[in-house]
Amino acid sequence: MPKFYLTTAIDYSNGDPHLGHALEKVGADCIARYRRLRGDQVHFLMGMDEHSQSVLQAAARAGVPPQEWVDRMASRFAEFWARLECSNDDWIRTTEPRHFRSVTELLQRIQRLNSDDLYVSEYEGLYCTGCEEFKQESQIVDGHCIEHPTLELIPTRERNHFFRLSRYGDRILDLISSGTLRVEPAIRRNEVVRLLQGGLQDISVSRLRQPWGIPFPGDPDQTVYVWFDALINYLSATGFPEPGYEQRWPADLHVIGKGITRFHCVIWPAMLLGADLALPREVWAHGYVQWEGTKMSKTAGTAVTLDEAIERHGPDALRYFLLREVGFEADGNFTWERFDERYTADLADGFGNLASRTLAMLAKYRGGVVPSAAGATSLDELRQRAQAEYVLFMDALDLRGGAEAAWTSVSAANLYVQQTAPWALAKAGKDSELDQVLTALARALCSLAIMTAPFMPAKAQALWEDLGMEGNVADAKWTAAENPAVDGRSTRKGSVLFPKPATV
Ligand SMILES: [Zn+2]
Repeated sequence: MPKFYLTTAIDYSNGDPHLGHALEKVGADCIARYRRLRGDQVHFLMGMDEHSQSVLQAAARAGVPPQEWVDRMASRFAEFWARLECSNDDWIRTTEPRHFRSVTELLQRIQRLNSDDLYVSEYEGLYCTGCEEFKQESQIVDGHCIEHPTLELIPTRERNHFFRLSRYGDRILDLISSGTLRVEPAIRRNEVVRLLQGGLQDISVSRLRQPWGIPFPGDPDQTVYVWFDALINYLSATGFPEPGYEQRWPADLHVIGKGITRFHCVIWPAMLLGADLALPREVWAHGYVQWEGTKMSKTAGTAVTLDEAIERHGPDALRYFLLREVGFEADGNFTWERFDERYTADLADGFGNLASRTLAMLAKYRGGVVPSAAGATSLDELRQRAQAEYVLFMDALDLRGGAEAAWTSVSAANLYVQQTAPWALAKAGKDSELDQVLTALARALCSLAIMTAPFMPAKAQALWEDLGMEGNVADAKWTAAENPAVDGRSTRKGSVLFPKPATV
């Protein structure tokens, strides 16, 4: 089984998670579930970035020690990700001893292997506390950070340790151009390439006497810069530097937001090259969730809480809506109106109706048992075409395309019910034809349970059980979608998958 090590960005513990965080975690979870379905040995990492200045400020505002604050926030985030059915195998926090050890070792490795890469110098610049980084002129609009227009940039001057990033630009450019380090989607890759072609400046990798963070090896007056610290989490979680970490490292996919592409596609690869470690294979930078045209973020203010969005139609519907409508490749809009429309059209009237009418007909005409009817129907052909498209899209991390492909199967099956009119076949006593139709529909539903499981794990499981399939749909392999083994299964009408809410 090929290994697939997948990570999400770790989040600042300075406030509750919002829809923007949710899009990333749900998208990565969808990919993790899909890779398991395809037979990969998946290791899925999520976690918390706990050393930033914004965390320290949030703890001070709440009047609690920082450790107590980050403990509280970590359980709060974990609770949300559990509600949204994230199937992460590990959960890393940058305040953990395993991470301290890994950060210290990585810096010492750079000192040992490329001692010239780290040096002490004076730095002066404008610091954004939202990004936790010095901003360059190109990143400043009207005197403010592009990402944080409501925050003031802070003029800062101090003596720090520097990393010779400028040395690595050409090598990273070559690695990206040759596809050794894949950066997707293409719009993000082009940005990174332009950045690299423009030449890189060395970066400060320590801050003077920060009370909250990891001491710089060999210089306890200095604290490791929070971004340098945070990026290393992906390596810490593999057990680095303990033997055996290479079984997991390098990461096969880093899923991040487009605002932190530079850190992941330029600085992180350079750090790894400096330490003579393997580079991640791919970075996927998703867009932002827009609410009335504005990015969802703590500092931009939130118009809708994640809790409200989950409560609206349940966690599975939110997962589906985020990946199908908002999308995982560019910025997308979230509105209640669109959410309600999609819920009604795609889920209640589309997928849900197909499941309930098929299971009802099986109960009414065949005592709930799926008949054994050999031979492919026109619906089977359409199902197989949808499955092939689904695989192409999902392999390319086009989650919206994957969902659309699955829904062509939903539409085809609903149309098939209308065209074949099983009730008329029953009335006319055309038993073998009715068997064919009902079996083809059961096969379509079984395949849909498998294809929708990465998007809507709980609803897919409910359908799986209603179809009389054993075990967990999350453990199913792709061959089960290609050859749905439904003949002779005892189905049940079950509960309505997507009830229509009174408010819609
Ligand atoms: Zn900023």
